[in-house]
Amino acid sequence: MNQKIWLSSPHMGGNEQTYIKEAFDTNWIAPLGPNVTGFEKDLESYLKEDVHVAALSSGTAAIHLALVQLGVGLNDEVLCQSMTFSASANPIVYQGAKPVFIDSEEDTWNMCPIHLETAIKDRIAKGKTPKAIIIVHLYGMPAKMDEILAVANTYNIPVVEDAAEALGSTFKGRKCGTFGDFSILSFNGNKIITTSGGGAMVCNNIEKKQNTIFLATQARDQATHYQHSQIGYNYRMSNISAGIGRGQMEILDKHINLRREMNSFYKELFSDVEGVDVFTEPNEYSYSNHWLSCIVVNENAPFTKEELFNKMLEANIETRPLWKPMHLQPVFKNAPFYGTNISETLFEKGLCLPSGSNLTEQDRDRIFKVVKSLK
Ligand SMILES: *Cc1c(COP(=O)(O)O)cnc(C)c1O
Repeated sequence: MNQKIWLSSPHMGGNEQTYIKEAFDTNWIAPLGPNVTGFEKDLESYLKEDVHVAALSSGTAAIHLALVQLGVGLNDEVLCQSMTFSASANPIVYQGAKPVFIDSEEDTWNMCPIHLETAIKDRIAKGKTPKAIIIVHLYGMPAKMDEILAVANTYNIPVVEDAAEALGSTFKGRKCGTFGDFSILSFNGNKIITTSGGGAMVCNNIEKKQNTIFLATQARDQATHYQHSQIGYNYRMSNISAGIGRGQMEILDKHINLRREMNSFYKELFSDVEGVDVFTEPNEYSYSNHWLSCIVVNENAPFTKEELFNKMLEANIETRPLWKPMHLQPVFKNAPFYGTNISETLFEKGLCLPSGSNLTEQDRDRIFKVVKSLK
């Protein structure tokens, strides 16, 4: 049997172990140390815009601490993009608040600014101004930030930017992860860079960074004894994980280019296949890291999404349906939803394809052969 081809697997650059060895040699085996500080600095200079970064244990933890700091509490409402991974929405529930889901638009598959405004007006009419808006850059594709921020500003609602999948993507030349009142990144095993598990909060001022770190390290007041006036969390990143992160930052842009080449490969592969659309930037304002390359298989295609999925599976190649929208998830079945059927249709017709920066010419050849057999 051929080796499995994954959607997105870890791809080390080479220097990760040097940073880890340094941590061992100096005995910084803790959730603080030179690698944590160094990784934060690397991210700050990469993202620009004078941001301040706090390294955390996961992207989910970052979203949770963003909501905590925005004062989201019991029975508050938070607007959230429906088409996303559940980790975008779960922290709303951790806070005892209620998610209200918003449909996608067709260009970027991200939150539709029109449905967003409809939802805000309706929630206000029903008696509650939403406490926050959680937007996502799905598969690395930048959301329509101009329109979304304009709506958010009109109603004075803070934005949490879930850039877990979009490190290195830009909108109008500005890096994703720098647009929110709080922005978050993820370094889980399948993301564009990994620390084996980890995340970060990107803040637009130093006070937010300091407060994020305070909350992430059990909210210890300034005292020689342990004193607490707030509930804290254990969400800081380990100095070992951060060592992996420092090594990964050295090759981030190189790996983005390789993922973008995978996207070009798919555009070429499906260029002569009727009814199959490769997901790509809608205009010159957006630059996607193409974390995952995705296609939509329409009725007029020579094969169905399921046929392609099964043929790939037989050839030991991983593919996966797009994110199942949150408003269709059993766990969120009672949450309000604003929109039509855009995200639902994408879920029905869409497929994620192997997209890693470590895929070889041989891997591409195997993918090519499966698609050719179905054309
Ligand atoms: C991966 C991911 C997260 C969660 O990040 P973790 O580091 O795995 O907790 C949140 N949102 C989106 C859109 C993601 O893809």
